[in-house]
Amino acid sequence: MKEFDYIIIGGGCAGLSLAYELEIHEKLKDKTLAIIEPRQEYKKDKTWSFWKVTPHNFDDCVKKKWENFSINIPGKTNHLECNNYPYQSIDSGLFYEKINNKLRENENIVFFKDIKEINSKNSFIFNSVPTLKKDHLNLWQHFCGVEIETQNDFFDDNIFNLMDFDCEQRENVHFFYTLPYTKNKALIETTWLSKMNNSSQKDYDKQIKDYIEKHLNLKNYKITYREEGAIPLFYPLHEKEENKINIGTAGGMTRLTTGYTFLNIQEHSKYIRKNIENISNAKKYEINKKYQFLDEIFLRVLEKHPEKMSDIFFKMFRTSPKTVIKFLSNKSNFFEDLSIIFKMPKWTFIRALFY
Ligand SMILES: Cc1cc2nc3c(=O)[nH]c(=O)nc-3n(C[C@H](O)[C@H](O)[C@H](O)COP(=O)(O)OP(=O)(O)OC[C@H]3O[C@@H](n4cnc5c(N)ncnc54)[C@H](O)[C@@H]3O)c2cc1C
Repeated sequence: MKEFDYIIIGGGCAGLSLAYELEIHEKLKDKTLAIIEPRQEYKKDKTWSFWKVTPHNFDDCVKKKWENFSINIPGKTNHLECNNYPYQSIDSGLFYEKINNKLRENENIVFFKDIKEINSKNSFIFNSVPTLKKDHLNLWQHFCGVEIETQNDFFDDNIFNLMDFDCEQRENVHFFYTLPYTKNKALIETTWLSKMNNSSQKDYDKQIKDYIEKHLNLKNYKITYREEGAIPLFYPLHEKEENKINIGTAGGMTRLTTGYTFLNIQEHSKYIRKNIENISNAKKYEINKKYQFLDEIFLRVLEKHPEKMSDIFFKMFRTSPKTVIKFLSNKSNFFEDLSIIFKMPKWTFIRALFY
């Protein structure tokens, strides 16, 4: 059976981002790489959005970017600017196509459906398939989004809606998220932050239909695409193994309060590329511990007081949006962290420290 210098398990966002980063920096000229990916074909299956706080390789896959956004709670709307860090939406279909076209040029890179097809004994492995502890008490961000097209112009495509909490909460945290790509095309997503021990929030299609037709008061539209997903708001199990590094969601690249992962994956890929010659001895790359700690407290509050969360998010963004964006994107300094912490309800958070 064939052997490879490197193996990437999972050719999704993290696996392909890493392969691309290594390839464009010519790290695979004299090295071989096997990518293990069971899917039959690559097609658009996700939309990755984030505030662009650092450069990345995929500006040409950006479907749309915005410099304004809003947050709603019942009776109140906050309009905010993000011109320092525009919010970008990446079309996964364009991303897969761009990377696969590039990787095809190098004969040292080969795709397999199953790791059993190769000899992995002497390879360095980058694994993006997470092992998640099955615990019904864990929190998830679970969601369903549809892209719709309207007959007439309907949306203001200069501003996206990050969170609209003016909807049923069902004793959890629930909001709608709207990305208007043009005046007559938008992604509308219903998002829950909750445990997954029952399916009472899973009537996604009805939620979206009601929101579009009753809340937005839009009747003439057609659905052109649908995506559904769940992001764990806890870290996957991690067993340290020689010659193996976890990447992507499996590698703890998700920011637990927000689910944002895409840019962290890009930064991790760069880190691996810079250290690839001595990767077995490289320090573990992780989201800064201060964010891990603060996110844990935040999620404890969310679990205990879901009814307070819409207000907390709303107030958080009353600090300068630039500061909040930096905080949520792991780029804030100590003083910026403090300004956000001071916006939180003091006693609720102090009590959460001791739960
Ligand atoms: C629908 C959706 C929307 C998201 N939107 C955003 C967003 O807007 N912004 C953001 O920052 N994050 C977002 N995320 C979170 C995160 O960015 C994505 O989940 C991202 O795809 C994670 O990359 P990954 O490589 O870890 O996992 P994936 O992209 O899921 O890749 C894992 C790959 O492993 C393959 N695989 C599965 N089992 C095996 C196996 N046994 N052996 C080998 N391969 C296997 C899968 O087919 C897949 O291709 C979203 C997540 C989802 C699910």
